[in-house]
Amino acid sequence: MFISDNLGVNTEGNLTIGGVDTIELANEFGTPLYVMDEQVIRNSLRRFHDSMNKYYNGNGEVHYASKAFSCMEMCRIVASEGDGLDVVSIGELYTAVKAGFPMEKVGFHGNNKTDEELDFAVKVGVGHIIVDNIDELHRLEKISAEKSAQPNIMFRIKPGIDAHTHDFVKTGQIDSKFGFALETGEAFEAVKEAVNCKNVKLIGLHCHIGSQIFDIAPFEEAAKVMLGFIAKIKNELGYVIEGLNLGGGFGIKYLNEHDPKPFEVYLEKVSEVVKTECAALGIKLPKMFIEPGRSIAGPAGITLYTVGARKEIPGIRTYISVDGGMADNPRYILYGSEYDAVVANKAGEERKDRVTIAGKCCESGDLIGENMPLQYAESGDIIAVCATGAYNYSMSSNYNRLQKPAVVFVNNGKARLAVKRETLDDIIRNDI
Ligand SMILES: *Cc1c(COP(=O)(O)O)cnc(C)c1O
Repeated sequence: MFISDNLGVNTEGNLTIGGVDTIELANEFGTPLYVMDEQVIRNSLRRFHDSMNKYYNGNGEVHYASKAFSCMEMCRIVASEGDGLDVVSIGELYTAVKAGFPMEKVGFHGNNKTDEELDFAVKVGVGHIIVDNIDELHRLEKISAEKSAQPNIMFRIKPGIDAHTHDFVKTGQIDSKFGFALETGEAFEAVKEAVNCKNVKLIGLHCHIGSQIFDIAPFEEAAKVMLGFIAKIKNELGYVIEGLNLGGGFGIKYLNEHDPKPFEVYLEKVSEVVKTECAALGIKLPKMFIEPGRSIAGPAGITLYTVGARKEIPGIRTYISVDGGMADNPRYILYGSEYDAVVANKAGEERKDRVTIAGKCCESGDLIGENMPLQYAESGDIIAVCATGAYNYSMSSNYNRLQKPAVVFVNNGKARLAVKRETLDDIIRNDI
């Protein structure tokens, strides 16, 4: 009935998440409200690292890609599971530092890190910096030389894999702003330079082919290409690359017809390919890193909204307007993303209506979705939009000077505030 089994209906007919009544959450914390189910986050992390143990002898690390959803409480949860973190900006890194996250388990990404960001990353001692381009390598060398530091680095490689996903979230092909190209020899030249650098230590190669990918084959292909490159580096330069970072990108279920492969199957297949290829190429098994973001945070979250107006346009469509929209969930306006929704106070009823859920921003494209099956919704009802845990809060804005919603975590039947709702004074706090 619901897209994930942490959602249910209680005796009042209200939607529950992690056993907590969503209507009580809406009453206590207000709407719009992001609700994250802590057990779903923990279970997903465990399934990834348990599979890494089972299929790859534990010779690897799971780094949660915090851009999917970052706040201090999320960093604390990931740390308590013993997993690592991937950050893509000084802001995400600062959040991790302030949450007390162990820096040796942090990977720092970004296609255009500033000197300030690189300087901060070296200062706090991140585990590795994933260098995106030759200019960054030169700037990092200079910064670490000044500090007499030798940070670990990986190189981000474009393996030339075309994953079947939305154009905006494809990253592995040659025409991409991310990373060094393999085909042109750019990546090899960079490696040649890095292995002779005194102020960085090249410990691994990284690729990330895209996001919301359902097939396992492109991940297997990417692993093969990367291992071929590791073998070339060993054979031609005599340098051993210790780490292979395969990025994230695993698809999740947004709609009932989505059928992502279990994480276990992904890790089993990819581990097999890596082992077979290494044997064939005569190279030692690298330490494996994966960076799931969406698949950890996405299924854990829902967003609660209060319905304002119901507008039926005969023969055209019915608009249900809610008290949020593109400012808290810009994924529809960005990618035309689809979601499943439920009227939380009528969750036991059948979804006989077909509606467009619209936001309150001054853009016609400000929609949560179109042609969505829903219970009959009217003013005052609470709507839950499902699987909003990733790339919603983290992509939220103050468009129309809306206040960003609060984030609440639920666990063991209890709710706790993790991020406060912005106040009107927050809206003007930097205005002079
Ligand atoms: C975005 C990103 C991820 C996470 O991708 P998901 O699709 O959320 O799993 C991992 N690694 C890198 C480098 C990324 O840019």
